[in-house]
Amino acid sequence: MGIQHEHDGYRLIDLVVADDDKRSTRAFCEALGEVAETSVDTAESIQVQAFAANTIRRHARPDLWGRLSAPIRTGRLRLANCLSEANSGSDLAAIELAAVAGDDGYVLTGTKTWVAHGPDADELIVYARTGVPGLGGITAFLVDAHSPGVIAGPTREHLAGLAIPVSEVTFDRVVVPTERILGRVNRGARVADILLTQGRIGLAACALGLGRAALDEATRFAKAHHRFGHPLIEHQGVGFKLADIATRLEAGRQLLHHACDRFDENPDSAVLVCAQAKLFATDTAMAATTDAVQVLGASAYLAGNRAEERMRQAKILQILQGTNEIQRRTIAASLVPAAPRPAPAMTAAAIG
Ligand SMILES: Cc1cc2nc3c(=O)[nH]c(=O)nc-3n(C[C@H](O)[C@H](O)[C@H](O)COP(=O)(O)OP(=O)(O)OC[C@H]3O[C@@H](n4cnc5c(N)ncnc54)[C@H](O)[C@@H]3O)c2cc1C
Repeated sequence: MGIQHEHDGYRLIDLVVADDDKRSTRAFCEALGEVAETSVDTAESIQVQAFAANTIRRHARPDLWGRLSAPIRTGRLRLANCLSEANSGSDLAAIELAAVAGDDGYVLTGTKTWVAHGPDADELIVYARTGVPGLGGITAFLVDAHSPGVIAGPTREHLAGLAIPVSEVTFDRVVVPTERILGRVNRGARVADILLTQGRIGLAACALGLGRAALDEATRFAKAHHRFGHPLIEHQGVGFKLADIATRLEAGRQLLHHACDRFDENPDSAVLVCAQAKLFATDTAMAATTDAVQVLGASAYLAGNRAEERMRQAKILQILQGTNEIQRRTIAASLVPAAPRPAPAMTAAAIG
């Protein structure tokens, strides 16, 4: 799975982790969308690496980031985000994996599920319980995946279509030095919040690329395939379907640009628009890929045809990085006049 993709002379990851004045989430997402048109797996892998890297850049001690920055940027060190557990998917506040302070640092015990890059990651960002129940008792740690007691399970067979390797990771009394805490003790939800906000725009970019690929294939087919004496696209039932998808994809792109720019200005003020961008783009991808299968008819199911695979990939994008119900929850919370801003409990969800 490629991580070192280049775009206009930049390594993609540099667009996310560069100094403030050189950073451009919009350029990153444009490039990510282009990658997703060909391979949504590769795009997903790139965004996992890039946003995990940005989490470390923002929240690790400067000397730790200084040591890890080069191998992370070149892809020599692979990163993974460990939020989800058996009893905590959408609800980050329910995290149970325990981190107990000891003489040499913290001792981590528990299991994370659904970790993308889990089977072959070198560094894991792990969210663990260090304090009281709820979001206020979680701390983020950067764990060396080669430490004694870190056990990555076998690659999970998941809904076919997304080839990124995913596994459980178990922590059996893993000792993590205190200098590997990201951010502050019991403030891990804050670390996750920014990661998830950014991840949502990355997923939106992947979804729009996937949707564009579906529209392109359906349009080509509808121009070439004749029924009732005319190309399919000249039948209003087909042409209008494609017109609606083209319009939704363009609207999604504008919303994504807006979300990227807001994120680069101030991640805290971008929570709402990033949720909207993720929701709209992934629902659009679902509609685009489903309609593309309908337009292609039975030929969508011929071996080697990508159309029905894209439909399955779009479904996963509606679930990752906070399901679309969780995005709606965030958006609905912003409509309540008394709420100053969506509380972390409303925004935090597991990551994909
Ligand atoms: C391919 C893949 C890769 C993944 N990669 C990662 C990763 O790298 N790291 C990681 O930590 N996790 C990862 N995940 C996990 C993913 O983020 C979670 O699956 C996702 O957040 C949803 O959690 P859940 O599956 O436990 O669903 P649940 O939280 O159990 O929810 C089940 C259903 O109930 C709905 N629901 C839950 N609460 C509410 C509510 N309050 N209101 C309305 N509806 C609600 C949900 O929307 C969903 O439809 C990955 C998952 C997959 C499939």
